[in-house]
Amino acid sequence: MKEKLKVCKVCGKEMAANAKACPSCGAKNKKPVFKKWWFWLIVVVIVAAVGAGAGGSGEAPQGGGGQQDGGSQQQPISYTAYEVSQLMDDLSGNAMKAESTYKNQYVALSGRLGVIDSSGKYISIYSADDPFDFIGVTCYLKNDAQRQQVMEMSVDDVITVRGKITSVGEVLGYSLNVTDFGE
Ligand SMILES: [Zn+2]
Repeated sequence: MKEKLKVCKVCGKEMAANAKACPSCGAKNKKPVFKKWWFWLIVVVIVAAVGAGAGGSGEAPQGGGGQQDGGSQQQPISYTAYEVSQLMDDLSGNAMKAESTYKNQYVALSGRLGVIDSSGKYISIYSADDPFDFIGVTCYLKNDAQRQQVMEMSVDDVITVRGKITSVGEVLGYSLNVTDFGE
């Protein structure tokens, strides 16, 4: 095997590439940096970082695909129909299970309108079966169109509220962000 030669950086004479020092001038034969393991580690790290960065900006065109996903998310949300009484029964039976069942779920809740907040922030609906139920579902209104619809309602009306349940608590009952009022 032919010995590799290199040129000494100090004196310019040829020497064995793997020599520890130049035989002519005694200067240390430094290995080129790219022969050191940590150099390649750094390269790999940088490439990975740049790749991740490029992947990040690459999500802009992929965002086109993401928008297609968004398009599928724009499919009508399916609301699961419940009576408020069922939610309240589940809550009193097992609040933890009720939370895992209903939290973040889109629901169409039918119940008795019990409270209309005078400032129009929310309405509360209760079990239609139990006139003495004082824990129910607090339904937060998000816009004036909804408040306008609530204007037409009266306490004790049985209504259907569609929206997403945002919290479940055994003391305060359920909270829901109103999407709209169903039939
Ligand atoms: Zn030398």
